[in-house]
Amino acid sequence: MDYFRTHTEINLEAIRRNSETIKASTGKQLIAVVKADAYGHGVVPVIEVLRPVADMFAVATIEEGVALRQAGIRDPILVLFSSLPEQAAHIVAHGLTPTIGDWEFANRLNDVASKIVSVHVNINTGMNRSGIYWTEAAQFLNRLKTLHRLNVEGVFTHLATADETDKRFVFLQLKRFSSVLEKVSNGSALVHAANSAAALAIPEAHFDAVRPGLSLYGIYPALERTIQLEPALTWKARIGWMGSLSEGEGVSYGLRYKAPRETRVVMVQVGYGDGYPRALSGVGEVLIGGARRPIVGRVCMDVSVVRLASTDNVSVGDEVVLIGKQGDAEITVDELAHRAGTISYEILTQIGARVPKNYI
Ligand SMILES: *Cc1c(COP(=O)(O)O)cnc(C)c1O
Repeated sequence: MDYFRTHTEINLEAIRRNSETIKASTGKQLIAVVKADAYGHGVVPVIEVLRPVADMFAVATIEEGVALRQAGIRDPILVLFSSLPEQAAHIVAHGLTPTIGDWEFANRLNDVASKIVSVHVNINTGMNRSGIYWTEAAQFLNRLKTLHRLNVEGVFTHLATADETDKRFVFLQLKRFSSVLEKVSNGSALVHAANSAAALAIPEAHFDAVRPGLSLYGIYPALERTIQLEPALTWKARIGWMGSLSEGEGVSYGLRYKAPRETRVVMVQVGYGDGYPRALSGVGEVLIGGARRPIVGRVCMDVSVVRLASTDNVSVGDEVVLIGKQGDAEITVDELAHRAGTISYEILTQIGARVPKNYI
């Protein structure tokens, strides 16, 4: 829309190509992780473009699953973090696939189900934030067989250090996981463990299906660049005001930047209220006219201030790129995250509801 002050552009074809590349390189089923509004890319359009490639979708919460059903999405949806007994009836009513991580929840599901409910069992092999302890998992899986309305469709674990160069703990987790799988005869259950980092770099973790999120959107989870991915998101904002500072004048709250000489600045219409990190105050850069320009002073809720070069020829309304390419210059999500002292996941998922998405 021509009046947008800031917006993202989402390249859905890039997401589809990334998913095809991941699926082809692993040769396994694809559980596409679309939690947190598909990492800020918009969950419904992402599901629609991934439908021909993905075998299943995964969200984090029951609220995300219910919202997808209400939006008319009928695909299989795994809820990665389901555990409250109160959620059981809603899981069943909306035809979602829950994750089982304890007996009480499993039992409640079995009680409220009127027909067979497919479930995935989460085994804690060292991440230590959810799931059945691996030492108790074989016994648990056998006990689950007494809950006749539950069908164990999948068994999974989650890796704590797949994105680190030292893979020793990954292999310890995989050994624990395999020891459970050996003890149980879940012949038909889909076995999965690999997040993006493991899908890209650890074939031993691929099992029957991979479970990537970040890499679908074209961002590498770790330093390894084993396959070619294409970032799908560009974030833009527009210049809203132009000004100049005389020597010694300050800018924005707290006047933290002081102009060393006569300096031209522009106000860019994005702030932390849009999810643009306040941590970029004085350290971020944006692209204006195909060149990098620094953020000066504090990032405000609605706007930020950027210093121009004396030769810049720009006007109010001109486009500023926060993430993505402009001419030959590029600011990646990773760079932005690094400057803000965080990770790409957080940057993408914090892009606010106030920032409209344009699909291309
Ligand atoms: C978020 C999540 C994933 C996807 O992780 P990425 O690093 O984005 O690929 C996979 N599995 C579980 C259990 C998750 O919570």
